[in-house]
Amino acid sequence: MIFDAVLLDRDGTLIEDVPYNGDPDKVRPVPGARAALDRLRAAGLRLGVVSNQSGLARGLFTEDDLARVNARVEELLGPFDTWRVCPHDSGVGCGCRKPAPGLVRAAADDLGTTPERCVMIGDIGGDVDAALAAGASAVLVPTPSTRAEEVAGAPSVADTLPDAVELVLRRADLPVGEGTGGHVLVVRSDSAGDLLLTGPAIRAVAHGASRVTLLCGPRGRGVADLLPGVGRVITHELPWIEPSPRPVDHVDIARLGADLVPLDVDEAVVFTSFHQSPLPLALLLRLAGVPRVSAISDDYPGSLLDLRHRVPTGIPEAERALSLAAAAGYPSDDPGLSVHSGPVPAETGYVVVHPGASVPARACPPRRCAEFVEALLGAGFRVTVTGGPHERDLTRYVSAPGATDLGGRTTWAELAGVLAGAACVVAANTGPAHLAAAVGTPVVSLFAPTVDFGQWAPYRVPLVRLGTATSACRGTRVTACPVPGHPCLTDVEPGAVVGAVTTLTNTGRWR
Ligand SMILES: [Zn+2]
Repeated sequence: MIFDAVLLDRDGTLIEDVPYNGDPDKVRPVPGARAALDRLRAAGLRLGVVSNQSGLARGLFTEDDLARVNARVEELLGPFDTWRVCPHDSGVGCGCRKPAPGLVRAAADDLGTTPERCVMIGDIGGDVDAALAAGASAVLVPTPSTRAEEVAGAPSVADTLPDAVELVLRRADLPVGEGTGGHVLVVRSDSAGDLLLTGPAIRAVAHGASRVTLLCGPRGRGVADLLPGVGRVITHELPWIEPSPRPVDHVDIARLGADLVPLDVDEAVVFTSFHQSPLPLALLLRLAGVPRVSAISDDYPGSLLDLRHRVPTGIPEAERALSLAAAAGYPSDDPGLSVHSGPVPAETGYVVVHPGASVPARACPPRRCAEFVEALLGAGFRVTVTGGPHERDLTRYVSAPGATDLGGRTTWAELAGVLAGAACVVAANTGPAHLAAAVGTPVVSLFAPTVDFGQWAPYRVPLVRLGTATSACRGTRVTACPVPGHPCLTDVEPGAVVGAVTTLTNTGRWR
């Protein structure tokens, strides 16, 4: 199981929303609620309710009324393992009222787990934002009053509470097959971020295998050595995976085939993104005599695959890979990202701003990033700007006086150390955001909606999403933004970045 608990909003999610209700006779569960919750209980998941009840602060009902309403909810829907209620009014700045993460953190603590091992189900953006800021997963079940922007911005959306429960159970409990337990070749040929997101699945394979060899592409090579469980690493560019591929060259392909034979592996597990095909490599693995090949493929594989696995679209990339690993015989109970990082700087607690992105459509304009740095410095944060070797001009431009510019000065391992020492990282949807997740540092994600947020968000780390989720570039998968002015990220205000960093760095206020 990759989750321990499910946290549920009360009004509009478990029961019909009756504004400021203090009357137990008005409690009406949503259709199918009892049966759906009983499925979660039967699966061994613990249940908590996290609910804003500002009617208490406003004197619209009493604590006794609330207790009687909640008792009625349990009478109709069965017992919950914890209840966490924010009694405060909006605008007082408490750390518990959703979208603040306090209630989610407290409920996870009550249940003896961490927010990262919880899923939140709620009906408005505040439920989703609270869950993500705490590091939990989230499923939105919209009602007619849920705003379109909230639906577009959610990582996962279900039509009804029973549908949300079905989705959670499919993600939590993965079918496990039978592996060889021998020498396993794992394959993930894409960028550094993709390889980092496959890390938990590779770790799962390593846990059950005698040895793991990784085949990666040149763009992922920098993080390959940071992944726990990886033994030998071999690098080849696969022209059916690369975004700007070279022509297929028979000498090059023959060299890859020849390199595969002496590995003498017992099996191969080929990880891909949902739009990539494992089949060309499966053919080479077959020709190299690999006895067992497993991969996710919607396309008919004939005799190229021994295990043809299928997963629903829209689940996080890390879980998609974990699902394949489990089906191949290598389940995991520890799905978070992880890396061996370089040394952490002596003085920690700074905010990292990483202005670059491997894909231009996902980058925030440099002028905006410079404003973020200035605003963060102005709010009293120490700021470090990071970037790759080709981004030195960018990081120099973005670094206001007073900020530390590390552009082009770190290896991936050193960058992991710098991120590990940060209180928070501000980054677009690009490799270092996933590296931050792997060292457990909260992320302000400047997320262009060109690809699916639920699939590609930094995984299992406290998170605030910024950027316009409804922008016209949504779902286009483009590499260069087609909308004049690149509004999805240009419209992010410096004040919003400071607010998000403040939310993610205020860790103790709920106690
Ligand atoms: Zn509160």
